[in-house]
Amino acid sequence: MTSVLERPQGRHSGAAPRRRLLVVGNGMAGARAVEEILARGGAEQFTITMFGDEPYGNYNRIMLSHVLSGEESDADIFLNSLPWYRENGITLHAGVRVDRIDKFTKHVFSNDGRVTPYDTLIIATGSRSHMPPMDGLYTPGGSVKHGVFGFRTIDDTRRMVQHAQQEHHRRAVVIGGGLLGLEAAYGLKSHGIDVEVVHSGGHLMNAQMGPDGGAVLRRSVEALGIRVHTSSRTTAVLGRDMVSGVSLRDQEDIACDMVVVAAGIRPNVDVAVLSGLPVERAIVVDDRLRVQDEDDIYAVGECVQHRGEVYGLVAPLWEQAMVLANHVTGVDTSSAYLGSRTATKLKVAGVDVASMGLHGPEFDTDEHIVFSEPSRGIFKSIVVRDNKMVGATLLGDSRKVAYLTQAYDRGLPLPDERIALMFDVGGPGEAVGVAELDDGAQVCNCNGVSKGALVAAVKGGCSTVSGAMDATRAGKGCGSCKLLVRQVVEWAADGAVEEDPAASYYVPGIPLDKPALMAAIRKQGLRSVSQVFTALAPGSAEDAKSKMGLASLLKMMLADRYIDERDARFINDRVHANIQRDGTFSVVPQMKGGVTSVQQLRRIADVAEKHNVPLIKLTGGQRIDLLGIPKEDLPQVWADLDMPSGYAYGKSFRTVKTCVGKDFCRYGTGDSTKLGIEIESRFQGIESPAKLKLAVSGCPRNCAESLVKDVGVVAVEGGRWELYVGGAAGAHIRKGDLLATVDDPDEVKVLTGRFMQYYREQANWLERTYSFVPRVGIEHLRAVIVEDSEGVAAQLDAAMQASVDSYADPWSERDDPLTPGQFRTSLPLTVLPQVPVR
Ligand SMILES: Cc1cc2nc3c(=O)[nH]c(=O)nc-3n(C[C@H](O)[C@H](O)[C@H](O)COP(=O)(O)OP(=O)(O)OC[C@H]3O[C@@H](n4cnc5c(N)ncnc54)[C@H](O)[C@@H]3O)c2cc1C
Ligand code: SF4
Repeated sequence: MTSVLERPQGRHSGAAPRRRLLVVGNGMAGARAVEEILARGGAEQFTITMFGDEPYGNYNRIMLSHVLSGEESDADIFLNSLPWYRENGITLHAGVRVDRIDKFTKHVFSNDGRVTPYDTLIIATGSRSHMPPMDGLYTPGGSVKHGVFGFRTIDDTRRMVQHAQQEHHRRAVVIGGGLLGLEAAYGLKSHGIDVEVVHSGGHLMNAQMGPDGGAVLRRSVEALGIRVHTSSRTTAVLGRDMVSGVSLRDQEDIACDMVVVAAGIRPNVDVAVLSGLPVERAIVVDDRLRVQDEDDIYAVGECVQHRGEVYGLVAPLWEQAMVLANHVTGVDTSSAYLGSRTATKLKVAGVDVASMGLHGPEFDTDEHIVFSEPSRGIFKSIVVRDNKMVGATLLGDSRKVAYLTQAYDRGLPLPDERIALMFDVGGPGEAVGVAELDDGAQVCNCNGVSKGALVAAVKGGCSTVSGAMDATRAGKGCGSCKLLVRQVVEWAADGAVEEDPAASYYVPGIPLDKPALMAAIRKQGLRSVSQVFTALAPGSAEDAKSKMGLASLLKMMLADRYIDERDARFINDRVHANIQRDGTFSVVPQMKGGVTSVQQLRRIADVAEKHNVPLIKLTGGQRIDLLGIPKEDLPQVWADLDMPSGYAYGKSFRTVKTCVGKDFCRYGTGDSTKLGIEIESRFQGIESPAKLKLAVSGCPRNCAESLVKDVGVVAVEGGRWELYVGGAAGAHIRKGDLLATVDDPDEVKVLTGRFMQYYREQANWLERTYSFVPRVGIEHLRAVIVEDSEGVAAQLDAAMQASVDSYADPWSERDDPLTPGQFRTSLPLTVLPQVPVR
């Protein structure tokens, strides 16, 4: 492999040369350490380079449980997006793995052939899922069997969601009944999958609670419809090429289509071992987070062993990152990390579990206070030693958790009446509890935010809850502390807490709600995103997060009078193709209503052959997807196809799925194919607040799945058509509401356009119709759109017509790129495993 030796870079003009800080691992600890270093003026001292073998910025791994259950979208969990690194002058090698460190010459070697020098090195390689030994876990090729998943990364989570959403996948086994296993089980259950948890311990979450608490937890978990097997071990994964079940020791096999292994984690220490660094259970560090016997190498996070302890939660790594940053920057060389006390919470809706410290007495002199009410799923246990709380488990009622965490963290003296630890009987009530928390009490464990920091934010002028959350990052981890954050802010503001006006802004950078923003744009005749910022943003400041929403709004309002500025678009919209995980793009030619011809098929096949397209796949919207096209090849692929864009990217109208309808189907009463094609032709490329997927079915058998589309049309008896809106069949599942039943396909087209325009004008940015329709109410929509109760129907129709008239195929940019770099690749491509052709 060729090696690229990086030249020393970044000399400050005139100033002392900056040292080279290199970070291996771009996860929660690595990125947090860098943030702490920057906060201490590190940008002046260092040129910073980071390597992370996941091809992304840094995301909140904790939230993967919510992504799996569909409560959160994966786009929303990023803590530091790729632009953040650029804006802070950090060189990030995303998707690149460091293989070895030469600690004598101070270089790291990465799997892209690069050799990078450092002055100071931080190792933050985290952990990976532990796959316990089992027969049949791996294929003969050495990869994990199809249908088996770890639960650690965003890619693991996306793959699980995809697998769980395939119709023929109905049953899952989760191996491990700890925190992660239960969150995985709950997440899969949310996709309608039958889930069984197999746990080797005698009771669930045995690391955090005793058998009595475990028994109550089991009832709560089983009440969610999840089956539980305790004291049970899986011995084999069954199935030849893909999972068909698991074998258990001393019990019957369980049939399933997927297996999630959540049986613990192992620190990623390969690089450290290979490089001759001290590794026991993990990389051994001292109280400064410096690797034992090394001067210039530090380690932080889950890959670290400190005073014999290895942590698997984020709160310790926040504390570690602060100490590390103090030393690396020299801001406080007396700073020391002395270990962390950990508390955990289960993120399963409806099953409240919080646990800290011991779950039972260890000595005869320990007091153990227990309250159990299994029928209501309530169990509380507190262990007291020398009048100090040394452990607590709370199930089903965690109202006292803030007070107990405080008592546990600080070792506070406890009330004589121990029952007051569990219930508000003469003890501190919630408000009093907040007032009594001392300043150092940690309110948000995920982000290590104390009550004092929140109070300081309020005193510093943050008079809204979300303002204080933004300023401190409290509540931005797993979210389970949000109530407490609100209570602290309300208490600190002494009743003067303001409702957050930003909650109603259409985009965060402009302090106006959608109607006011549209009115201002119209009044001032603004036509581009930069004009809007100049005229309406505080201090005329541009805000990256607002650009895409504004671009979409302006295009909707102005049609061909809109002045397009490319930096206001996301990558998919800039190159009119869908970016894939490996950095290549997928191209979807238009195929209206899912209908194609011999000529089109032949042309697509020729193009695929000419460009060595690695994967050709049918989409869920009845089109052909050519996957794996490098960015620079896009113009040529489009030219060779010579077909219009099929809109599989961007926030816009996408596709109309149709069934074969009355010409071919013996049940069909309406010509669904013809109507679908007409709708697709009319509304192609229309921008909207979120994507729009449509369908037309020829009879109520609904082969085109019209009831779960943003707009779905169904032919019914008597030549009539029903129009449904607000349906969804993705992470959220919702049957659309009936908007109208009409006699004529032309009326369908009019109402479809009118609904789409009303949605475009009224919906919040990124609000899908499945949220918009219930928010506004189907009766209101019916009144405005069908009955014209507000007299705006003609206006809506005309605005939609203007957008329809301004349509231009975006792929025509192939001949005339808008910017020189539009089709030049800037990301290193990651090699993905070949998708097998079955
Ligand atoms: C689903 C889930 C839910 C969780 N819930 C909670 C919770 O509720 N509360 C809580 O406190 N904690 C929770 N955790 C644990 C928490 O996410 C971890 O403690 C935290 O992410 C550890 O941070 P880290 O930086 O040490 O490791 P990571 O975040 O794993 O980051 C390490 C990074 O280094 C990369 N890397 C490894 N080796 C190399 C190499 N050689 N070269 C380049 N890059 C490399 C890895 O790919 C990874 O991106 C949860 C974890 C998961 C998976
Ligand atoms: S929806 Fe009705 S018309 Fe269309 S294919 Fe199915 S059965 Fe036939």
